[in-house]
Amino acid sequence: MHALLRQLLDMGQEQAKQQIERGLKLYQSNQREKALQVWTKVLEKNTDPGGKFRVLGCLITAHSEMGKYKEMLKYALAQIDTARDMEDPDYLTEGYLNLARSNEKLCEFQNTISYCKTCLNMQGTTVSLQLNGQVCLSMGNAYLGLSVFQKSLESYEKALRYAHNNDDKMLECRVCCSLGSFYVVLKDYEKALFFPCKAAELVNDYGKGWSLKYRAMSQYHMSVAYRKLDRLPDAMECCEESMKIALQHGDRPLQALCLLNFADIHRCRKDVDRALPRYESSMCIMIEIGNRLGQASIYLNVAKCWELQKELDKALDSLRRAEDLSESMGNKLIALKTHSVREGIFRSREQQTELREQVVKFLQCVEELELYCGMCGESIGEKNQQLQSLPCSHIYHLRCIESNGTKGCPRCRSSSLKPGFV
Ligand SMILES: [Zn+2]
Ligand SMILES: [Zn+2]
Repeated sequence: MHALLRQLLDMGQEQAKQQIERGLKLYQSNQREKALQVWTKVLEKNTDPGGKFRVLGCLITAHSEMGKYKEMLKYALAQIDTARDMEDPDYLTEGYLNLARSNEKLCEFQNTISYCKTCLNMQGTTVSLQLNGQVCLSMGNAYLGLSVFQKSLESYEKALRYAHNNDDKMLECRVCCSLGSFYVVLKDYEKALFFPCKAAELVNDYGKGWSLKYRAMSQYHMSVAYRKLDRLPDAMECCEESMKIALQHGDRPLQALCLLNFADIHRCRKDVDRALPRYESSMCIMIEIGNRLGQASIYLNVAKCWELQKELDKALDSLRRAEDLSESMGNKLIALKTHSVREGIFRSREQQTELREQVVKFLQCVEELELYCGMCGESIGEKNQQLQSLPCSHIYHLRCIESNGTKGCPRCRSSSLKPGFV
């Protein structure tokens, strides 16, 4: 290439880099709209694929944080096209990770898993290997979304191992929050509180330079665990702290989760009049951002409110919506819960045929989700119980593992009985 042309191109690249930096500074000082304008302009003018890739990365992160997941996906698709043109495994890994994340946010869990697998099969350099922890986290979240618990836990354990090996405290913090959700779902509330507390500790010890969203996230997960443990004043306090930050940052996804949790706290206090409007506000945001898992949880919990009010037809209607959404995402757990609430309703109405149908469907879900302990045969995730996983990530009651002696895992016959990582 002609030397002068080369120099001009370099100058162009340098300018683009400066503009990306300028956008970042604006973004970090909460001037989001301006930052987006700067980046969009760079994107229009820039022909250098490296610069284009970077600026798309900024746009993806920004839209993710605002909860604009459809736009996030659009930019992720543009980014993967750029990476394909460059044929560089490091760029490809990052591009596929962003595709996985966009799909995770839109509750397209199967897509998330297949993009994550593509990432893990990529033969990149150490740069892309460092992304593997984040890939495993996203994969764990997607498996949790599909209620595939063993694989979810296995992915989280891997993510945690990457975090430890790379001394990546931010990743560790995020995995701890996800593990909080995991144990809330399986109703080991001691662990459900332990992991977010650990996340909060990491924020305190290392998080001086981190975005406040990490603090907000850990407070939110602690709040959910406190509510499950019936420590409602603690739950309220953490949720208020989280909501305050979410409002300051215009973090719509977290606002929706906090509102949902506020509503649940009021429902636990049997204060339906306070709960319902908060469910409604949360629903508006969940629809706006496209979080179907959130929407399904709201319908389920609204049904419980109607049940408290003895408005059983309204409850059944809300359950139907929850079930439709859970089916559209492949989330079996919410389906299971809808059967359990319906069971109660039909029992109180003495509708025997309908009752039997729900019992059968409920048991089918339990079977499919393997929600029973392979050692004692009793259920997992039905009431608050301490759980423990083996290194194969199969999950049992803690008491059963302790009394199992030297026999291996009954599910996969792996022999090691050393307690699992989490
Ligand atoms: Zn057991
Ligand atoms: Zn096993």
